[in-house]
Amino acid sequence: MVAFERPEKSYCTIVMYHYVRNMYETDYPGIKGLLIKDFIKQIDYICKNYSVIKLEDYTGLIKAKKAVPNNACILTFDDGFKDHYTNVFPILKKKKLPATFFPLTQPLSEFVVPAVHKTHFLLAKLGAPRFAEEINSVMEKKFSEFSTEYFIDDKIKKAKRYKWDDNLSANLKWTISAMPVEIKNKVFNFIFSKYFEDEKEFCKNLYMSFDQMREMIEGGMSFGSHSVTHPALSKLSSEEQDKEIRNSKITLEKELGVKISAFSYPYGDFNEATIDILKKEGFLCAVTTNAGLNKENDANLFTLDRLDTNDLCKINEK
Ligand SMILES: [Zn+2]
Repeated sequence: MVAFERPEKSYCTIVMYHYVRNMYETDYPGIKGLLIKDFIKQIDYICKNYSVIKLEDYTGLIKAKKAVPNNACILTFDDGFKDHYTNVFPILKKKKLPATFFPLTQPLSEFVVPAVHKTHFLLAKLGAPRFAEEINSVMEKKFSEFSTEYFIDDKIKKAKRYKWDDNLSANLKWTISAMPVEIKNKVFNFIFSKYFEDEKEFCKNLYMSFDQMREMIEGGMSFGSHSVTHPALSKLSSEEQDKEIRNSKITLEKELGVKISAFSYPYGDFNEATIDILKKEGFLCAVTTNAGLNKENDANLFTLDRLDTNDLCKINEK
């Protein structure tokens, strides 16, 4: 159970969603997502108990030191999945609810699946034990000097943030987020190409297109950046971070014809340099994966807390 107070009226709740799909009707029932019927239920709940506002409006109110509406709630969707166009957008449009979507640009401009999603689908296809075995084996063969440090087992959970996963899956995710980027990409490309034939086709099926995003903007939705490749930003040099942030912003602004001023930290990971870069690049706010509610008076626009969709239910059950 999450140890939150029941929300005060003046707290702003930012909800975070990833996959919203009927997993069991797809080729990958093992994907961890929210069923469409549960999404609809949660949206109904939110409509009854909160007032949904735009992230841009919230940012504007905080900057102007003006009052935020009571029980404010902001809906955010990370990673740019086609789920968001096919399953989420029609529901939000019907209810006239705004939301902010944070797509990655690498799958759209290079047709490369970022390692984070290669992980999800390899995990769904192989199961955690076999996937961990594959990683351990590739590491041992190709990067033996790192194989002990990143060896995956099911003993102790290495990071609390993966609270919805069992030990092995959590450590798998930890290893993946902690591994040096070059090694990670090589290992995952190797394993992914063994099990998935056509990466370009896979990208087209998994991610929404720029056309679909433009249609969503017409329908009242807004977009922010989530980087190019979904790296753990704090592990990169300032130059590399800058490239990830700036290039994703440039691509989205060029393709969507709107100003991109919100950022979502991949894995919720960032350091002080990240915030400096975001400010320099003209961003106005950034959302984390830190579970919490945003208090009106001390909301830091570059470290906004969010609740996972699963946490939102828990908090209100109390
Ligand atoms: Zn993400």
